[in-house]
Amino acid sequence: MTHLLHRSINTQLPVAVGGKGAYVMDQSGKAYLDASGGAAVSCLGHGHPDVLSALHAQLDKLAYAHTGFFTTDVAEELADRLIADAPAGLDHVYLVSGGSEAVEAALKMARQYFVEVGKPQRRHVIARRQSYHGNTLGALAAGGNEWRRSQFSPLLIETHHIAPCFAYREQREDETLEDYGQRAAEELETKILELGPDDVMAFVAEPVVGATAGAVPPAPGYFKKIREICDRYGVLLILDEVMCGMGRTGTLHACEQDGISPDLLTIAKGLGGGYQPIGATLMSTGIFEAFKTGSGFFQHGHTYMGHPMAAAAGLAVQNIIRRDDLLQNVFAMGELLAERLTERFGQNPHVGDIRGRGLFRGIELVQNRETKTPFDPALKLHARIKREAMSQGLMVYPMGGTIDGRVGDHVLIAPPFIISPEEVEIICDRLGAAVETSL
Ligand code: PLP
Repeated sequence: MTHLLHRSINTQLPVAVGGKGAYVMDQSGKAYLDASGGAAVSCLGHGHPDVLSALHAQLDKLAYAHTGFFTTDVAEELADRLIADAPAGLDHVYLVSGGSEAVEAALKMARQYFVEVGKPQRRHVIARRQSYHGNTLGALAAGGNEWRRSQFSPLLIETHHIAPCFAYREQREDETLEDYGQRAAEELETKILELGPDDVMAFVAEPVVGATAGAVPPAPGYFKKIREICDRYGVLLILDEVMCGMGRTGTLHACEQDGISPDLLTIAKGLGGGYQPIGATLMSTGIFEAFKTGSGFFQHGHTYMGHPMAAAAGLAVQNIIRRDDLLQNVFAMGELLAERLTERFGQNPHVGDIRGRGLFRGIELVQNRETKTPFDPALKLHARIKREAMSQGLMVYPMGGTIDGRVGDHVLIAPPFIISPEEVEIICDRLGAAVETSL
């Protein structure tokens, strides 16, 4: 009998007692190859000695200082580090404790910006179906995952959802990928015009969709068009890179590959690699200046924002990624992983799509490859795959499909940036066995 309320009350979990490199160990001594970083968190794997010594050093110096009283060198240094490599135009960092908090802060920054500049009527948020932006009420309202939202809908602010950019399911046979991307982006313009351009505050999107669809990259040109539309109507663009950012897709920020910069950028998981809870919202010069010359503060705050231990973890992880040139490995191992997944699943009649960027890959499972019909969600295929993978000693991140067939069960694969070619082979072998046994 446990007094800890687990995510799933009736599931018995193994007890994790240690971690080293790409592996997590349970209390029986069994080792699990962590091919999902938990949920795309552990970008440096486990027990990295340089992160541990940075944390010990910070703990010896100062564990906590309230940001209403002090700033700290470590938080300042992390902000400088993040801005040095930020997408163009972003020049201030707000440090929080995770992804949902980063999204909440971004939504409130967008709203406060319009209040500061005398446009308080701008209040509508537009986001996409098949997106996840967090579980707190603002972030949940922005997300498009009905399964997560439905019972809480009376508590959620009104948000308007458009189609995601999801070529596998929504590209028509008579259009190119680029044409499809333009068509998908034009939905944003239609929605802005429908709501009234002067009343729209922000558009929120994940550049590469993670948890709700399994590493879905945008069509080429999609985000350029989105940026143009936002600029045309004065709508702020919030990119949520909580999962796909900080190197996961092979560039530090996923949006670099789409050639655009947002007005607000959220990051979290790979920022601290799981060594401490940390997230951040990066803001543009324009938004910062409006706050500075307006009210002089951001009307928000959390007790643990800018936490020195979290900042020390973020700084150490980010410095190691650069020092060890790990983005190079993300790119090379990402290509190898894509190749091996294609070899392993390319002929499987139930694997409809293999997709992603860098070390952020997904496979989507379907009953029938021709019709792309998903499996009945009631079968809980994703849960079976997770169980099988764990029994094989592999951690991957399977998620269920939707009843309306907009996405099938899928498996997200997001190993640490230190993964070796041999470990990539093990991932594909064990995942292959887990999927085949589950079908
Ligand atoms: N945004 C995205 C894109 C995410 O994938 C997640 C978590 O999976 C969040 C926000 C929420 O982050 P957290 O769980 O740290 O609150």
